[in-house]
Amino acid sequence: MRFAFGGIHIECSTYSRIRSRTQDFTVLSGEALSGAPNFSFLSSYSHPFLPTFYASAVPGGPVERATYDAFKGEFLHSLKQLLPLDGLYLPMHGALYVDGMQDAEGDWIAAARQAVGAECLLSASYDLHGNLSRRVIDNIDMLSAYRTAPHIDVQETMQRACTMLLDCATRRVRPTLVWAPVPVLLPGERTSTEDQPAKDLYAQLAPRNAKPGILDASLLVGYVWADEPRATASVVLTGTELPTLEEQAVQLAQQYWDAREDFHFGVPVGSIAELLDQAQTCATQPVILADSGDNPTGGGVGDRAEVLEALLKRNFTNALVAGIADLPATELCYQRSPGSTIALRIGASLDPEGSRAIEAEAEILFLLATGDPRERQAVVKIQEVTVVLTARRRPFHHISDFTRLQLDIASFNLLVVKSGYLSPELAPLANPNLMALSDGSILQDLDKLPKNQFRPPTFPFDRSFTWQPSTIVSARSPQATQ
Ligand SMILES: [Zn+2]
Repeated sequence: MRFAFGGIHIECSTYSRIRSRTQDFTVLSGEALSGAPNFSFLSSYSHPFLPTFYASAVPGGPVERATYDAFKGEFLHSLKQLLPLDGLYLPMHGALYVDGMQDAEGDWIAAARQAVGAECLLSASYDLHGNLSRRVIDNIDMLSAYRTAPHIDVQETMQRACTMLLDCATRRVRPTLVWAPVPVLLPGERTSTEDQPAKDLYAQLAPRNAKPGILDASLLVGYVWADEPRATASVVLTGTELPTLEEQAVQLAQQYWDAREDFHFGVPVGSIAELLDQAQTCATQPVILADSGDNPTGGGVGDRAEVLEALLKRNFTNALVAGIADLPATELCYQRSPGSTIALRIGASLDPEGSRAIEAEAEILFLLATGDPRERQAVVKIQEVTVVLTARRRPFHHISDFTRLQLDIASFNLLVVKSGYLSPELAPLANPNLMALSDGSILQDLDKLPKNQFRPPTFPFDRSFTWQPSTIVSARSPQATQ
């Protein structure tokens, strides 16, 4: 039996003014794709999974149409070289947005289906912050989505999707896929699976998955920063017994709907000024403040300097801001040596309309040695605030992101990161963790988002409608009635 894998993985805020282009993606194909750490588990299966094409990027703005078209062309070209196939695995995110397209994953997956033909089984894995559509559902046979946010089950989910694909193909079973969309859209920061009510809702998935006739049980909170018709929360069940799948899907969808008013932020939130007041008088350290509206891992731009500006105005001491994406400022630093002082303009380099830059005298503390100019990072000090400037948009989620810059988080009173909920490595260090509902292209304060243009009535944008769960069976399913 022959299997192949490949796809596109990015989360795009439709509220962002910047565009995701070819250079923002890591593109893998051939042996480089088979050998990528994320996909090494595929070599343990008894049948080969052949690489096609895979493009992934830090979340951001909508993908430029030409970039998408070129990627899709490469994917389809390599896929067609491998035909015939018994199964295709699509590792997707689910919140891809392409200029001028309202359902980009639907377009990608429908094209994959057309290429492989009706007999081939398609299994997709999704981030739980992904949005589904009728077109996606009607072209796949099975789906597995992450069950944790922060995401600590990425590999487990990918394995679930592939094991299910292999099992169905070898047993010659075409499963039934049932989708129950739920018109509720909330930020990941209010639906973390470490906090209630998401914790209990997600805890039910594994036991429900174990029921006879169910191969996978997935619940997706969806992606709120995409104003598009398909944006909803979703329950998706894959299996072989339609009545069980429908019953379980309706129950889970109803529970998610019933819990809609109970989702709250897991940490104290407020304006930048309110939280810096708290940080200044806090008896414990380090305070870790998440600058959530500009979080690049949720689709924020990552170039805003408002928190830095506020710290400087307050003469805040012993704070670390990591980081601000600013290529021109980073490049200027690399033209000098550590120890020198330089006049910098920081902020609003990628989205000049979104925020404003600040001007400051900075002392260069450290320049990361790297052969790749995109990976350049400069550590500078302005007044008593240490700032990391980066050549490209990137998160600071790992301890190693700091230690490689010779920075010790514990030695600072305040660490500011562009993040939503903190990563599993940073969260235990926060003493305490605060989250600023700061401005940016992924505003957590949903009331301040631009009015919906494409989204159907959805909680919490609209609270005046009634709703009852119903299921949609994939047109691919042997038990589909349509
Ligand atoms: Zn996610």
